Amino acid sequence: MDGLGIRWTTRFLNTDDPAWRADPVAESRWLPAVGPIRIVLVMGLGTCGTGPFSPRYERRRVRLWLLLMTAFAAFLGAEVRPAAAVEIEFRWTFEGLDGATNPTTADLPSALVSNAVAGFRQWTRWCSPESPRSIEVVLRIQSYPTGTGGGSSVTSAFVRNSHGLDIFEEGVAAEVRTGIDPNGGDPDMIVTIDPAYLRDWLWFDPDPQLRQAAITGERVDAVSFFAHEFGHVLAFNGWGNTADGSYPGNYRSRFDAMTRWDGAHWYYSGSTARALYGSDVPLSSISNTRTHYGNPQSSAAPGRDPVLIDGLMNGVAFRVRQRYSVGLLDLAFLRDQEIALDPAIRFTAPELRLSIVGGRQTRVDWLATPLARYRVEASSRADGFWQEATVDSGSGLTAAPRFYEEPMAASLARFYRLRLMP
Ligand SMILES: [Zn+2]
Repeated sequence: MDGLGIRWTTRFLNTDDPAWRADPVAESRWLPAVGPIRIVLVMGLGTCGTGPFSPRYERRRVRLWLLLMTAFAAFLGAEVRPAAAVEIEFRWTFEGLDGATNPTTADLPSALVSNAVAGFRQWTRWCSPESPRSIEVVLRIQSYPTGTGGGSSVTSAFVRNSHGLDIFEEGVAAEVRTGIDPNGGDPDMIVTIDPAYLRDWLWFDPDPQLRQAAITGERVDAVSFFAHEFGHVLAFNGWGNTADGSYPGNYRSRFDAMTRWDGAHWYYSGSTARALYGSDVPLSSISNTRTHYGNPQSSAAPGRDPVLIDGLMNGVAFRVRQRYSVGLLDLAFLRDQEIALDPAIRFTAPELRLSIVGGRQTRVDWLATPLARYRVEASSRADGFWQEATVDSGSGLTAAPRFYEEPMAASLARFYRLRLMP
């Protein structure tokens, strides 16, 4: 493997192959892939002669299918859930709350805490520290330069010297990882919200764990806001200059240490994120700082694909009435930065199976990968012309584990792939 792509388990199936009838998943091989789009399955349907479609084969196929699905049901049952984790709890101090208002909640202090906890836990539920942790949070309502808000650890902790550079990790990340609070009893992190942003833009979820209530008005989901800021608190932070690629001194954050500047743009090249994304992850430079990923589709900068610009840590836009969530790519940054994550999280492609249902439908199944969402795309040509195959009507998106079925194609071959989505 050349390290440029992710290793995908693929199944190559050909219905004209007698071996397939005996064992539809007999042939398995690794395929490299580059970029966010990965080819997954190739299914040759041959000439659709009488052989594969005779009643005799049909009965065999149905029996085989039932067997397969029984096995696969057990396989899907193994979906990974977050470990019943050691608790990471948050303790709160408010600053500037007097006079702060928001029309979407009758109890602003409670709404701030409940929505913030829900946002933070989107990350911490996947962390697996060895003992309970307590993070002291300052929630500060104060005018903010960008007119929105921000979050960061209060301090950073020395990790090592590497090639003449001192490497530091975010203070909260250090405490989650080691259990040692780098600044003792002082606050560990600060989230600042501009009072006008709080009043005019944020929407507080009445049930921030469930996240199903309709978001009213032209407002930004507060759980998404807090989840984004906690990403900065943990891992998306550093000292590099977005515009010119420079650093103020011989020190780097863990994030910095995995970035590179190509003369015009920043890229993140941590091995986990890189393998999952398919290449170095383009960081923001147009609408936001390099501690985000993705750039506007209207720009010429790299990183304009949906997995970046619709991701939680995107540096393009936080859309109103949209819920953002921690995705697998976000967790890959944490894994790269050695934050203790549940070891059950897999950053590789899901296991896939292709089969035929009732002699008329082709079916693609895949195993759950925590947090990862995929879109099924299909093609009848080998020249890279892909069309979205709608799974959930409306969004076209699906969360694994799921399956996709469609009528067997009349063409000689049908190609399927899963595309990682935010
Ligand atoms: Zn940000």
